[in-house]
Amino acid sequence: MIYSVRWQLLLSMVAVILITVGMTAAFANLAANAEINRLQGQEAAAQDQRLSKLLADTYLFDGSWLDSQGVLEYASALYGEHLVLTDLQDQIVADSHHTVIGQYLSPTSASRHKTPVPGLEGPLGTLWFSPGDPPGASPDLVLGAESSGPSLSLLLILSGLLAVGVAMILTFFVSHRILRPLETLARVSRQAARRDFTVRAQVQSRDEVGDLARTFDTMLAELSRTEELRRNLVGDVAHELRTPLTNIRGYVEGISDGVMQPDAETLASIRGEIHLLTRLIDDLQELALVESGQMQLKLQSCDLGELIRDACLAVHPQAQAKSISLEVNEAYHLPIQADAQRVGQVLCNLLVNAITHTPTGGRIQVWASQVEGLVQVSVKDNGPGIAAEDQSYVFERFFRVDKSRSRATGGVGLGLTITRRLVEAHQGQIEVISQPGEGAEFRFTLPLERVSQAA
Ligand code: ADP
Repeated sequence: MIYSVRWQLLLSMVAVILITVGMTAAFANLAANAEINRLQGQEAAAQDQRLSKLLADTYLFDGSWLDSQGVLEYASALYGEHLVLTDLQDQIVADSHHTVIGQYLSPTSASRHKTPVPGLEGPLGTLWFSPGDPPGASPDLVLGAESSGPSLSLLLILSGLLAVGVAMILTFFVSHRILRPLETLARVSRQAARRDFTVRAQVQSRDEVGDLARTFDTMLAELSRTEELRRNLVGDVAHELRTPLTNIRGYVEGISDGVMQPDAETLASIRGEIHLLTRLIDDLQELALVESGQMQLKLQSCDLGELIRDACLAVHPQAQAKSISLEVNEAYHLPIQADAQRVGQVLCNLLVNAITHTPTGGRIQVWASQVEGLVQVSVKDNGPGIAAEDQSYVFERFFRVDKSRSRATGGVGLGLTITRRLVEAHQGQIEVISQPGEGAEFRFTLPLERVSQAA
């Protein structure tokens, strides 16, 4: 509990307040004491003057110090200290405590303070405050001095307590504001750890914690999508395996029941289904490799024009079988840094797809050009094209526009997924542009080979 953010906030705020109040108290006490001393000094000086003036008036009125004894006794009771009056011969003529009358006081004798009694033509005597005390000593009684210290300290303690109270309330609200989204995040994380990716933190605050929560929600959305893809993949694979296996079982059962003959036609059908299964497994293996990021590209300098020519040569028999013309723009020498075998695979995938979807006697155009540090390759056919609503899905796993037709051609809907992953592994991008009825064009980019400065 002591390690919780709420407690740490509270303790740090209380510490700051205590230090602040403590320092304020210390400085305020120093300042107040200095001010009190200054005022006391002023007050004492004024009192001394008034008393010495009163003694001078008494002397001038009487012509002797006779009545000064009463004045000193009264003033001593008022000031709370021993007062002594000496004449010009330094003989004590009045003593508030009646102890030293008649004795002499040397002008150098110690006393808290002394002041001359002024006459018309010079001093008439000297008034001594607390004779025997060291100079500047505090008088026994200082009016009003005792009340200022305690009240100031009490005030500071009260203000400190009030500040701590306010700090606790503030800490509660601030920590509640900060910690509530964190608690929500912790709850959502626990649910996500139990593989429930449908939950979201949905924190609205615009501070750093809000940013964190939004990033977390994005991550959850991505995890949820990945989980869905994983589930779909398992379902799709099961589905794709079931169809050819069911067909093979049908043929085998038909032959064993004597309903079908194990002739060349039946065996060719069985071989076709086995071929489909083999291709599915090969494609899945390839997909697993490119998606795991473990595929090692053998990057080397190669000429894209040459790779296009090789790919066209490889698919030429298939194109010729459908009387499809392959028009290649090979005017450019385009140096790229790529895995030649993988780029060839991308080109063959696109060309085979184009041949598959182009009607007999159709046309396929392949061109490549250099665009802003990239090379762009286009494979365009004049087949039926792809509907706008399907275009964003053609690169998804197991997506086929016409499932029955694609199966007949041996496609399982993984070719373009693998193609896209291969292009992306080369830091490129691929897109499809198509107007239904006007053919489909697949364009992909690859980084142009950087020519070194020395070259
Ligand atoms: P498949 O292996 O089944 O051909 P792909 O991933 O290569 O799978 O392609 C996915 C789907 O995209 C195909 O089933 C097809 O419907 C569509 N497609 C791909 N290329 C073309 C094209 N050139 N013209 C029309 N449709 C195409």
